[in-house]
Amino acid sequence: MIPVPVAAERNIKNAAERTNKMETLFCVIDENDPRKSAKIFEKAAEIIKKGGLVAFPTETVYGLGANALDKTAVKKIYEAKGRPSDNPLIVHISSLPELKGAAAEISPKAEKLIDAFWPGPLTIIFKKKDIIPAETSGGLDTVAVRFPENVAARRFIRACGLPIAAPSANTSGKPSPTSAQHVLNDLNGKIDMIIDGGNTKFGLESTIVSAVGDEITLLRPGSVTVDMLCEIVGEIKIDKTILTKPDENLRPLAPGMKYKHYSPLCNITIVKGERETVLKNMAELAEKAKANGEKTGIIATAEDRAFFENTDITLLDLGYESSPETIGAGLFKVLRTCDDMHLSSAFIKAFPERGVGLAIMNRLKKAAGYNIIEVR
Ligand code: AMP
Ligand code: MG
Repeated sequence: MIPVPVAAERNIKNAAERTNKMETLFCVIDENDPRKSAKIFEKAAEIIKKGGLVAFPTETVYGLGANALDKTAVKKIYEAKGRPSDNPLIVHISSLPELKGAAAEISPKAEKLIDAFWPGPLTIIFKKKDIIPAETSGGLDTVAVRFPENVAARRFIRACGLPIAAPSANTSGKPSPTSAQHVLNDLNGKIDMIIDGGNTKFGLESTIVSAVGDEITLLRPGSVTVDMLCEIVGEIKIDKTILTKPDENLRPLAPGMKYKHYSPLCNITIVKGERETVLKNMAELAEKAKANGEKTGIIATAEDRAFFENTDITLLDLGYESSPETIGAGLFKVLRTCDDMHLSSAFIKAFPERGVGLAIMNRLKKAAGYNIIEVR
C-alpha cells in the first residue's frame, strides 16, 4: 500500500518545524471523481504559485515542477534532486499560444514539428526570451519547451497559469520515475506534493531536438524516433554523443547527457551479439557471478524468458521484443527493481538501435556505465 499523508497546511508547517523536513502531500487522481481531481489541481497550483515543488505525471516520466519564471522556486528543484546547476530544465506548457511566452524565435522546421508532434513526447529547443531566468535555462541563451499530451499534466499546468519548469522527478543519477511510488521513494520529505496519475505511458524521457537556426539536431532520442522526425522535416543532424560514450573531447549538446544517469546501484552488464550466443553467455555469466557469492539476476523479454527458466537465477521481466514500446515503458522500473531486490549485478541483452531501440539503448548504456560485452 502506498502511504497517503494528506496533510493540511498547518501540519506541513508543524512537521517542518519539528523535523526540518517537509511533509509531502500524496494525492491520487481519480478519473471517476472529477471534483476530487479538481481540488488536487487547485491545491497543486496554490503550492506552485507560492514557490513550491509539485511532482506530476506526464506521458514520458514523472516531472518535478516549479514556476519556471521564479528563480528561487527553480533553485529548489536542483536542491531536491541534487542536480548540477548547469543542467537546464524543460519548460512545460499547456497550450500552443504559451510557447510565445518562452521562445524568442520559432523556425519554419520547428513549426512543422509542432504541428506533427505537439502535444506529445517531443521537447524543442528555441532561443529564449529574457523572461526565462538563467536558473531555468542552466545559464544558456536557449530554452527547452514541451507541450505534454498527458491530461493530468495539462490540467496541472493550466491550473497554475504559469510555465512549469520540470526535469524528471528522481534523485539525480537514478533511473527516471515512471510511477508516483518511484517519486515518493526518491523525494519524500523534500518536495511539497506528488500527484499520482498511474504508470507513465512511454516510460522514456522525451525526445529532445534543437530548432535553433535552420537545422534540426537530435540531442536525446526518445519515443518520437529519428524516422518520425525525418518524415516531417527531411534530414536531421544527430548529436554524436547519442551513439558513442561522451568524454572530454566529445561533449553532448544537451548538458544533462554528460552526467552519470539512469544508474541503479546494481552493476548492469549488456551482452551483445547473435541471440542464441547472447542468451547462453548471459546464463553463464550469471552462474559465475552467483558462484562468486553475488546476488545476481537476468533481465529478459517475454520471448527470451523460457531460455532461463530451468536455471535458478533470478529472472526480471522486461516487455516484449515484438513490441519495443513495452521495453521502453518497463526499462526504468526494472532497473529500480534490481535495487529493490538488492541485486549486486544483472545481465541484459543489447537491443537493435532502430526506432525506439535507439532511445532504449541510449538509456541502457548509461545505466550500465557503458559496460558492454560482445560475444560471438
Ligand atoms: P530531464 O528533464 O531530467 O530529462 O532533463 C532535461 C534535459 O534537457 C537535460 O538533458 C538537459 O540538459 C536538456 N536541456 C534542457 N534545456 C536545454 C537547452 N536549452 N539546451 C540543451 N539541452 C537542454
Ligand atoms: Mg532526468
